[in-house]
Amino acid sequence: NLTQRLAKVVKTIRGEARLTETNTAEMLREVRLALLEADVALPVVKSFIGKVREKAVGKEVMDSLSPGQALVGVVQQELSQIMGADLGEKASQLNFATQPPAIILMAGLQGVGKTTTVGKLARYLKQEKKKKVLTVSTDVYRPAAIKQLETVSGQSGVDFYGSDASEPIQIAKAALDHAKRHFYDVLIVDTAGRLGIDEQMMQEISGLHKTLSPIETLFVVDAMLGQDAINVAKSFNDALPLTGIVLTKLDGDSRGGAALSVRHITGKPVKFVGVSEKLDGLEEFDPVRMANRILGMGDILALVEEARKNVDIKAAQALEKKLKVGGRFDLNDFLAQIGQMKNMGGLSSMMSKMPAQFQQAAAGTNMDQAAKQVRRMEGIIHSMTPQERSKPEIIKAVRKRRIAAGAGVQVQDVNRLLSQFEQMQSMMKKMKGGGMMKMMRGLKG
Ligand code: GDP
Ligand code: MG
Repeated sequence: NLTQRLAKVVKTIRGEARLTETNTAEMLREVRLALLEADVALPVVKSFIGKVREKAVGKEVMDSLSPGQALVGVVQQELSQIMGADLGEKASQLNFATQPPAIILMAGLQGVGKTTTVGKLARYLKQEKKKKVLTVSTDVYRPAAIKQLETVSGQSGVDFYGSDASEPIQIAKAALDHAKRHFYDVLIVDTAGRLGIDEQMMQEISGLHKTLSPIETLFVVDAMLGQDAINVAKSFNDALPLTGIVLTKLDGDSRGGAALSVRHITGKPVKFVGVSEKLDGLEEFDPVRMANRILGMGDILALVEEARKNVDIKAAQALEKKLKVGGRFDLNDFLAQIGQMKNMGGLSSMMSKMPAQFQQAAAGTNMDQAAKQVRRMEGIIHSMTPQERSKPEIIKAVRKRRIAAGAGVQVQDVNRLLSQFEQMQSMMKKMKGGGMMKMMRGLKG
């Protein structure tokens, strides 16, 4: 399996300071095989390996790691990002920004777990989000499926809309009307699936989508589907404007490779995972955990994480020392700090570990926006010369224009960065670096 494969290669490449084409080649071959074994679709594997190679080659290997371990770190980071770590927490949450009722339309093949997921979602929305939920089934071909939804809705303590109509669209319209008149916050619409991709099924669900204009259209996919997941996902994604994915049956022995395939093909965030047949078996999706599951290398990943933290702590200590002896906080230090923020697993998770006054300052900040800002800031600093970075005061109009052009931003963005930098610099002066270590320790949580 993957763990054994990678562990073997990890052992074979040791004692080199950088990742190179040569020392990563064999390792990447193993990662490739392993992803295929985890049932990630071939085109997805190819594109993924390409990206990892690009990121890895030339990278320095941290002191306490072997090149193999370092490469696993790169693989894990890239995988987490593709799984959605980069999108921020918002991406994986349901959208309710609409006139109630917020409609959630469920799509997917038969037997993947749509009806069960409706029951789970209803329970989650009622208990965790305090929503008033109505469910309805448009699976007119299988009376038992309608009964099934009525049962799970009852078990979840939410209302079920029963209808005598024989047409899915009629049923959906009547349910919507009922939901409006009785002030439901959410209407979840279950649909009929087929065993394979089917023209009639696709037409029916696009019709429902047109009629309802749901704010969420969730594609439900079975984690055990393996290589096939990619074709099914493509058909549904072409036919419907999906807003998210639910990956069911992750409690099985599947590695979850389908998550990567489906995410890659649709570009849509995985929002939930199903982890049991029971109605409490629904979890909010966690990209990093999913990446680790696909990789299956807990031990090495923990080691890599530890090494990363040590690097950050060393950097913080060095900065503290420099400031104590009267050194100046410059743009290089600023860049290093931005880099550390990213290592800490993204802005949102970092903010949640920050001291209270930082959290207050950041309240109401859009995290996706903030993540983009951070990347832009890095881009701007990268466009500066070493001299400019260590002596920011020499950056006047002409240099600003050159830096802006180099980073593909406006001069006002460069100005904003410089003023943010100055704020940070004066804060550093006040703390004399003394607060840094405390902050770092807080962050490690
Ligand atoms: P639908 O045809 O898409 O509506 O699928 P159902 O909701 O009827 O589910 C089909 C089968 O999968 C049922 O036996 C469910 O209990 C089971 N199932 C659904 N989700 C999960 C899950 O997350 N884990 C497990 N183990 N079983 C699940
Ligand atoms: Mg069903």
